[in-house]
Amino acid sequence: MVNEERMKKTFTDLVKMYAPSKGERDVAEYLKKELKKLGAAKIIEDNDGSVNGGNTGNLIARFNGNAPGLPSIAFTAHMDCVENCKGIEPVLEDGIFRSKGDTILGGDDKAGVTAILEGLHLMKEMYIPHGKITVIFTVQEEIGLFGSKNIEEKYINDVDFGYTLDADGPAGSLFNAGPSEYTIDFICKGVAAHAGMCPEKGTSAIRMAALGIAACPQGRIDFETTCNLGTIEGGTATNIVPDYCIIHGEARSRNEEKLEKVVSEMEEAFKKAAEGFPEGSLEIRKEKAYDAFTVKETDPCLKLFKGACDAAGFTMTVEASGGGSDANWFGTKGFPAVLVGVGMKDFHTNKENLALKDLCDAGELVYRIIEAESHFGH
Ligand SMILES: [Zn+2]
Repeated sequence: MVNEERMKKTFTDLVKMYAPSKGERDVAEYLKKELKKLGAAKIIEDNDGSVNGGNTGNLIARFNGNAPGLPSIAFTAHMDCVENCKGIEPVLEDGIFRSKGDTILGGDDKAGVTAILEGLHLMKEMYIPHGKITVIFTVQEEIGLFGSKNIEEKYINDVDFGYTLDADGPAGSLFNAGPSEYTIDFICKGVAAHAGMCPEKGTSAIRMAALGIAACPQGRIDFETTCNLGTIEGGTATNIVPDYCIIHGEARSRNEEKLEKVVSEMEEAFKKAAEGFPEGSLEIRKEKAYDAFTVKETDPCLKLFKGACDAAGFTMTVEASGGGSDANWFGTKGFPAVLVGVGMKDFHTNKENLALKDLCDAGELVYRIIEAESHFGH
């Protein structure tokens, strides 16, 4: 059904473009041309590329419906890659795309982008009846979901539900829930002093941090709650008692109460540690990175997906995700969205790979979702 050669070419073209977060311009220009060729009624680049100093805004393309009474659905993917994405040379061997080994492959999320374009090609070629379709290609997903966080609501408020193609697992894999996340910085402050001449005048921020870290909950808390202290920086030289140490952490849960609980336990651990350092102090900065989402199995979004999987012969699996994605922000700002597998494996590493079959299946799935619309009343 899908045009394998076309998908290979689109995917290869896309991953070769250097597109780190905030530098998605080349990909955006390429996609604008493609979307136009595919017959988009309107292509908008929002934010004027001004979010966080990036050079590109989100792309939002509207395809008018050609049959009345069908739902207005969205397909989304992100244009940026994690770093180590400069000079990607994709190699297709034994049906698997890989990089040459010195970069990532970029299937996260060009597999999603390619699948959406292929679905639109098929929609056009097959003249199928469909409702209004909104395609959203976001920026800056990898550095904190900033594209979807800042998307202007006026462009998405008439979407009924959507599919974010940005997950592992073959076509048919669907994640209908994702966690809320807090990012938390623990800033331990001490007093600097010469470590050889007058250490007694100093207060070690690193020692304070160490006691806090040791007492802080970490890792998996339960099936839907996790937390982590991920990076640490502090001190200036071996001969100086360190007067600062910063620990960057996060906590996630699909249950808000549990999330608040684990965050307060983390805070408590560091506060207790700081009590032992009367000359020092502790500052805690925490921020909600995004909110949890759940789309029920009875929702039309999942029913349509099921219809598409049945028609294509894919096995539908429904799971909750432990990660954040653009789907979280779409759920908060505009429309319920689920996260959909496109076959990416070992992403964010140089071993990243993607089976051509999984890529083609993802394209087929997009087409089948659009096709299944016509069998679904609103
Ligand atoms: Zn991604």
